Parts: sequence; C-alpha cells; structure tokens
Amino acid sequence: MARSRRPSRAIRALGGAPRSSSGVLKTPAEIDAMAASGDVLARAHEAMAAAIAVGVTTADLDAIAEQVIREAGAVPAFKGYHGFPATICPSVNDQVVHAIPGAYALAEGDLISIDCGATLGGWVSDAARTYVVGTTNADAVRLSDITKASLAAGIAAATVGRHIGDIGHAVQTVVEAAGFSCVDSLVGHGVGRSMHEPPNVPNLGTPGTGEPLVDGLVIAIEPMVNFGGPDVMLGPDGWTVTTKDGTLSAHWEHTVAITAAGPRILTDSTRAVAP
Ligand code: MG
Ligand code: MG
Repeated sequence: MARSRRPSRAIRALGGAPRSSSGVLKTPAEIDAMAASGDVLARAHEAMAAAIAVGVTTADLDAIAEQVIREAGAVPAFKGYHGFPATICPSVNDQVVHAIPGAYALAEGDLISIDCGATLGGWVSDAARTYVVGTTNADAVRLSDITKASLAAGIAAATVGRHIGDIGHAVQTVVEAAGFSCVDSLVGHGVGRSMHEPPNVPNLGTPGTGEPLVDGLVIAIEPMVNFGGPDVMLGPDGWTVTTKDGTLSAHWEHTVAITAAGPRILTDSTRAVAP
C-alpha cells in the first residue's frame, strides 16, 4: 500500500503521517523475521499469479491471497487498515492503487496491479506486482516491464552511504527514458511493526539528497508509473486512485532491507539478495 506524500483531502484516506528525518532501524534478527513475513506474502502473490485468467474476479484473487496468508499463520495487513475492507488492492487499467476487490471479472488485455501486505509475528511486509491478461496488449506489457525495471534500479540504489533521493532518481531515470510518468503524490515508505513508517520514499529524486540510507533501514520501494501524465485522482469510494487522463498505470513494489551486504529483498522468495 502506498503512502500519501502530504496530507490533503484527496489523500486523507490513505493514512499518511508527517515525514520524519529518520526511520526505525532493525537488527539482523528482526530483518530475518521480516523476511519470513515477506516469504508468506511472496507465496500469496505467486498463488494469485497462477490464478489470473480471463473471467477471474478481483474478489476471487482476494480470497486466494487471504487463504495463503492465514494458512501460514499470518494476517492480511491491509484488512481493516484505516477501514480498508480487503486483503488486496487489485487496480485495473487506469486504476493506480488502492482499488477494492469485487465482482469485476478480468478481460483479455487488462492490466492489473495487485498490492498486498502480510503481518507475521507483528512484522509487516508489503509488495505489489503487475500482470497483463492474455497476449494482446503490448502497451500494457511495456508499461509493466518498465515499471518493474525501475523498481530494480531503485533497489540497486538502496545501498548504505547513499540517500533516499538516489532511489527516486534511479526510478525516475528508467521511467522517463521510456516516456512514462512517475506518480509523485504517492510514495513508498519505511516498513516494520507498522506498514507506514518514516521515511517517505518518493519515486522522483535528486542524487545525494534526503535521508541517509543506513544499515538496518527497511523500506517499501514502489514505483507507480502512468502511461500518460503523472496526475491522479481519488474515486468516489474514497480509496481507488486513478490516472487523471485515463491512461494505464502499473505498480511494482518490494519491501527491502538496507544492509552492509547490500539491499536485501524481503518479498521475493526467489531472490533474497539483489546483485
Ligand atoms: Mg503495497
Ligand atoms: Mg507500500
């Protein structure tokens, strides 16, 4: 789940808190515990990925994720968060983030980003992945691929001695080279006992600026990338954020620990440490 960059009427429901100059640092044992939470979440994402097909509803995907999370002894981190009613945020096509699952059935060519969180032993993990249904929507595939590549670039920049602005700069560089736009009004965030901790992690930035990246800081890096312009708006349900120009939007996110050995991805069971 993304965090609002600054409090305003349009983003109040997303639960942003004021920025702080420092995050809550985790010990190696605490990072291991967060990785266990992240493994459960990765399994939930993998189960949903296997189920995505024409005709599957977003409520079906929500049920799959909740079952995997609860069977692992964890709880859905989003359910009840500021009143959010479900386990996942399945945002389709021009929906950016925080959509509510329901009866909508996936169609050929749909782009769907699924954001999900798990809490295990009190530790929150947060991750989003994007899929394109079928094979006919080349624009959607390219948007998702670029967004995923921008996440990888952001993670690669998340090393001790650099700054939050280096992450945003890395994300922004990949996105803008492809002609797409980073959403600026929603940001990544620190993660730990709470889903949203300091610091904010914007998807645009200037190298060498912002909070220093230190050993033990755990953050959710989450580029939200629009095919058209960067502006977004909040829908009448008070949750669903859509692109203002109606173009497609993709979202990839990992929870990442910054360690002396390099960035450690906690929400990808197939790759524990970034190259
Ligand atoms: Mg998320
Ligand atoms: Mg998040």
